[in-house]
Amino acid sequence: MFRKMGMEPKDFRPYREVVPRHILEGLDGVLNTLKAERIVHVNSTPMGGGVAEILRSLLPLSKGLGIDTDWFVITPPESFFKVTKKIHNLMQGAEGELTRNEEDEYFSYGGTLGDFDVSTIEADVVFLHDPQLLPLMQVLPKKNRPMVVWVCHIDLSKPNVKMLRKLIPYISLADKLVFSLQQYVPSGLAEESVNIIPPAIDPLSDKNRYMDLQQARDVVASMGVDVERPFITQVSRFDPWKDPRGVVDVYRIAKRAIPELQLAYLGASHATDDPEGASIYADLVQYIANDRDVHLYTEEHISIEMVDTVVNAFQKASPVILQKSLREGFGLTITEAMWKQTPVIGSNVGGITIQIVDGETGFLVANKSQCAKRAVELLASLDKRIVMGEKAKESVRQKFLLPRFLRDYIKVGLQ
Ligand code: UDP
Repeated sequence: MFRKMGMEPKDFRPYREVVPRHILEGLDGVLNTLKAERIVHVNSTPMGGGVAEILRSLLPLSKGLGIDTDWFVITPPESFFKVTKKIHNLMQGAEGELTRNEEDEYFSYGGTLGDFDVSTIEADVVFLHDPQLLPLMQVLPKKNRPMVVWVCHIDLSKPNVKMLRKLIPYISLADKLVFSLQQYVPSGLAEESVNIIPPAIDPLSDKNRYMDLQQARDVVASMGVDVERPFITQVSRFDPWKDPRGVVDVYRIAKRAIPELQLAYLGASHATDDPEGASIYADLVQYIANDRDVHLYTEEHISIEMVDTVVNAFQKASPVILQKSLREGFGLTITEAMWKQTPVIGSNVGGITIQIVDGETGFLVANKSQCAKRAVELLASLDKRIVMGEKAKESVRQKFLLPRFLRDYIKVGLQ
């Protein structure tokens, strides 16, 4: 019903060279007062999407600091993930509601996890990530249970209220709650249980470690993009909230000014808990209608082993990165690109707004034509891109690197 992920501890020492001193001091401070001995995280996919990305960087580092840390992934049937993706969409504001059958499938899943006895994993603190894990709340032991923290990674700024109301009783069963932004916190929850922790990236992972520009350009060229001509890139799951058709529209508008422009869209996330990708990709293939300057990549084009390197290369070599989301819980893709000193043009929504200072560390846009205009502006000026890219990297260094994130998570677990 759930499987344990193998993890090697990661040496913390190299991070001391990268992150600001005040963050290191804060982390040392909380480590000295940490009483919890064993921390366990449970989520719904080992790979693909932001949550898996966060856990595969956070947890080995936590282990490397001597904290007994484990990671479990639930393994429900595909039909469960169809329902939870619908719940995800409703929570981000889609219209509609669950059918009776879908509701039964979702809530009864907790029952099928009867053998998930948190006492058997002997944790002091258990972090449960996203709505996929909420059914588990029903089978938590009443007595002697560990501290249970529910972490919400999704953009709850304009939720479908009916869906949210159904989940609130389950959310309320957690001892503590984590949201990425203050504005996502639904009303009616115990204020003292709420923590605001925006995510962060691992600057030393294969995806984010320094890559030489020429090497990055070689990788991008090997994927079929003509690096001698301008191109713009979005790295995102094929998901309605990432507005894939909107990205193509932006490219089409910008191409009127720059006829040789190309678009790359990397949707090779390898997420096992997102069943929507194939149909959205198929729709996009139709939509681009044989435009040879549009390059779409799925899991078929980029293997699991190569995906971090390819994402790193595109984020480094693209003159401009787009994040044309309609909702965005946080948007690690933005942080990743900013860390590589690449200017990001992002929609003025959710977690994008706490990452990009408009006109300084990137551009915030309200619609497709603004987005295209900014893309043309940046493509025309290497100087602007350099200045913006440098500021972007420094802002990530100050606010969105892994040790700060680890410090905040440990604080939540302090008992
Ligand atoms: N990602 C990837 N390959 C892809 C597309 C996305 O590895 O082709 C990764 C991306 O680099 C980032 C994560 O998936 O680390 C997406 O996280 P984000 O917070 O941006 O969005 P989410 O998918 O969680 O909505």
